[in-house]
Amino acid sequence: MTTAAIHILPEQLVNQIAAGEVVERPASVVKELLENAIDAQASRIVLEVEEAGKKLIRASDDGAGIPADQAPLALASHATSKITTGDDLEGITSLGFRGEALPSIASVADVRLLSRTADALEATEVTVSGGRADPPRPASGPVGTTVEVRNLFRYVPVRRKFLKTDATEMGHITEQAARIALAYPAVHLTVTHNGRSVYQLPPSESVRERVGAFFGPDLAASLIEVTSEEPGGRLWGLVGPPHVARATGTMQYLFINGRYVRDRGLLHALREAYRGLLEGRRQPVAFLFLTVPPERVDVNVHPTKVEVRLRDAHLLYGQVLGTVRERLLGPGLTPSLQTPPAGAGEPAPQTPPASEVAEGASDRDERVRQAVADFLRSPPTTDQHRLPLAGKTVPQGGFARKADADAHRGAPATSRSRLGETPPHAECAAPARPEQEAALPQAPAIQIHNTYLVAETEDGILIVDQHALHERILFEEIMKRLAAGPLQGQRLLIPVTVALSDGEMAAVETHREALARLGLEVEPLGPRDVGIQAFPSLLERGDPEGTLRDFLAWVQAVDSPPTPRQVLEELAHVAACHAAVKAGDPLKTEEIEMLLAHREAAHMAATCPHGRPTALILRKRDLEKQFGRDYAAGGRAGETNEVLPY
Ligand code: ADP
Ligand code: MG
Repeated sequence: MTTAAIHILPEQLVNQIAAGEVVERPASVVKELLENAIDAQASRIVLEVEEAGKKLIRASDDGAGIPADQAPLALASHATSKITTGDDLEGITSLGFRGEALPSIASVADVRLLSRTADALEATEVTVSGGRADPPRPASGPVGTTVEVRNLFRYVPVRRKFLKTDATEMGHITEQAARIALAYPAVHLTVTHNGRSVYQLPPSESVRERVGAFFGPDLAASLIEVTSEEPGGRLWGLVGPPHVARATGTMQYLFINGRYVRDRGLLHALREAYRGLLEGRRQPVAFLFLTVPPERVDVNVHPTKVEVRLRDAHLLYGQVLGTVRERLLGPGLTPSLQTPPAGAGEPAPQTPPASEVAEGASDRDERVRQAVADFLRSPPTTDQHRLPLAGKTVPQGGFARKADADAHRGAPATSRSRLGETPPHAECAAPARPEQEAALPQAPAIQIHNTYLVAETEDGILIVDQHALHERILFEEIMKRLAAGPLQGQRLLIPVTVALSDGEMAAVETHREALARLGLEVEPLGPRDVGIQAFPSLLERGDPEGTLRDFLAWVQAVDSPPTPRQVLEELAHVAACHAAVKAGDPLKTEEIEMLLAHREAAHMAATCPHGRPTALILRKRDLEKQFGRDYAAGGRAGETNEVLPY
């Protein structure tokens, strides 16, 4: 066999290979162009998109511009104005530095660059088509730079085939715009799609205002400010109170030195800060801005720089966890409700809130603290608080919905404050461990903290998480019935109207059949509205809107297209989660018995569908050991040296 001779690849091909890493979809181009504009100190950026970027992406800025003689270089590989020596890599302060983006883009699309510096009399234009650059020529244009990218992936048709619907691609573009807009609120940003205005964001000092523009004013108004200055760096941010948690982590925005990053460690710290405050696997909402010395961050570890390496990772982990947690559980608790006014003078993260860091507990701090305190103490609003089992059904008739279910309406609903005080999870208790096998309740079970069911078993004590168990029962039942055929949907008397984003509308379209199999009948009502017409009778009162929203959030968050089986399982998960009793719901004796009986009958696995344990067992022999009663094993009363944490 002859081997092919080794040869240097032509530049166009080299760039196309590089583009494979940097330019995945139209949104990747948007990211690079916006970052270049920010690096050029632009104060105003106009982003115009046609056909979700497949036809045109044009970014115009009023930044520094490129001198005429350097314009062709901007499109050449490994040409950058941002670093010069290897040492510069040690302290990157710009968003770009690889000099790869423009040549990569120009190798897979038709590009036109028009730029003018403040001291130039006219602009310079360079065009690249099919990897061939025309010589630069003078042109008219304002100070700043416009980069126009047409016919993306024209020269790599395979890539073009992988592009999703316009709605999905536009969703990714919006996400990139949001990341820049949040990190640089002082920059005026305009986004248009097919000539229609999508975002008009005037310069602002307030991150909260920008959050409002992208995610709605209600969410923005609910956010709580956090701030701290520690040896690792400075942290400023807005975090959601527990009740605005989401199904997925897509609303966790973390910026380090103005760059959006996904850092697993720091995102973990954020979730840890909410430990015990969120239900199930709900995810907190957060916009966090870290400022750290540039030489303490290595940004040269990922082609699109969305991952970084942090020198002080452990310090920053502790800072994020501590700052957010302290705020959520902070002192100065008083019951009066004062919601922080939306956009009230938040500092921009790039101009750090020095005054506030110094002031400590300012008036605003105090107000926010009060709002949190109130939130943690107050009874949940009707929207979050579900009447226990009233209107919920457990498979095969399940809980009787008798008139006295109403008796619970008067019960104090203090789940939220209790959630705040309860130690995270019973997993921590030493001798208790996830249950290995079914155990029979012997004596009547009781409910404690309106959250756990405790029952005597043949050889110990069974502790059950009521929500996790009910969710598991419902999930199993749904999956069992799905195996036999579509679930019976029950027509809703009043269809539930749900406003969706373009991406979510597309997801509904894609998964309409799966939704119908679960008994969820969803019909489009307008370009961005759907109506839920029917909901599975099995889950009668299980929150159709929440179920749909959580499912769509999942669809948009998964990396690769899910298999039909995964889709059905996820639907069953979210539906079961919403329909199940919650932590904090008081249960009647027969309801407790019913739940435990179902568990018994189904030989339930020891975990809920999301992997949390549904039950723990404290074995009699362990108790005996702990209390020094296990004489047979050689122990003596009073001599046990193993001390229990609880
Ligand atoms: P990088 O951003 O990594 O330097 P790019 O390929 O994105 O690489 O850009 C190459 C060079 O072109 C930049 O270093 C910069 O000098 C110039 N450039 C690109 N876009 C702009 C812009 N909008 N304004 C001013 N200069 C720009
Ligand atoms: Mg760049």
